[in-house]
Amino acid sequence: MQRMQRAAGAVVGSAVGDALGGPFEFGPPGAFSARFPAPGAGGEMCGGGGWDPGEATDDTQMAVLVAESLLERGGLDLPDIFGRFQRWAAAEPKDIGLQTEDVLTNGMPWDLAAALHFQVSRRAAGNGSLMRASTSAVRFAPAGQEATMDAARRIAALTHGDRAAWEGTAIFHELVRVTFEDTDPLAALPDTLALVHPGHRDRYATVLAPGWHPGQATEFNGAVWPCLGSAVWALRTTTGFEDAIRAAIDLGGDTDTVAAVTGGLAGAYYGLDAIPARWTQPLHVPLPGFDGRVLRLADLLRLADRLGDGFGDGFGDGFGDGLGDGLGAEPGAAPPSSPSTG
Ligand SMILES: [Mg+2]
Repeated sequence: MQRMQRAAGAVVGSAVGDALGGPFEFGPPGAFSARFPAPGAGGEMCGGGGWDPGEATDDTQMAVLVAESLLERGGLDLPDIFGRFQRWAAAEPKDIGLQTEDVLTNGMPWDLAAALHFQVSRRAAGNGSLMRASTSAVRFAPAGQEATMDAARRIAALTHGDRAAWEGTAIFHELVRVTFEDTDPLAALPDTLALVHPGHRDRYATVLAPGWHPGQATEFNGAVWPCLGSAVWALRTTTGFEDAIRAAIDLGGDTDTVAAVTGGLAGAYYGLDAIPARWTQPLHVPLPGFDGRVLRLADLLRLADRLGDGFGDGFGDGFGDGLGDGLGAEPGAAPPSSPSTG
């Protein structure tokens, strides 16, 4: 599969999962399939709980902020990302993680805010850095294993002082990277775990083990470990993008984020064309604090295209323009010149 398919799949897949899961946040297990018993029937982008149909939540909004910083700054500019997060948080987005809000509004400088918050609270292993990692995972994949995991940790550390959150985000980055190389991310888990900080390895090994089930989680899935474990479980136990998202939302709890993380992995794995058009069409991402901008599918595709420039194999050429129309279900939309990544 072309890397372009996978990169756009990761970005759009995460956003779609977020928007589908938002209305079910903090609900009970099974709520999604109780409402939509037949996969593929339509109507799932239903809105509710304060969300319009197709409206992406803070997960995707922050992922877009990271993406725009990486592109406009030409690389990883941590103070710039932090500043964008602050500007967004000050505009009172509909949803924002407690941890993230505390860090972004406590008035401390970018390189101290999260660490100081962690020192005081001792609670900073939420999934709030993992949830926004799809765009940076795409951007840093071509830079290789060490660079992508390093970038993940640094961006995570902007809001999360607990290394557990950094490591979970780094694992996500690496799984997306290997998927772009046509490696099965599930098969790559043992190698990936070996790259995790030794003090955090066992806990991730537990939730990423083949036999683990989200029902065995020892924390609410708003914590980083069960969130990542549940996303990997959803990918492992299903055979398509739609079913992976359904499984993720059906876990209940922090459904938008578990589905956003699942959608990032499953979107990279199955590719953009596997994401139902009836899910991508109503998708939109408001950006509070940024002049009322609302990104739609074409904008996300353009973003994914530019983020993928680093592959240097023609990946970034010509994907953004003209692809906004009718995409999602059009195999013919891919540029003919991109070589296979096999
Ligand atoms: Mg959210």
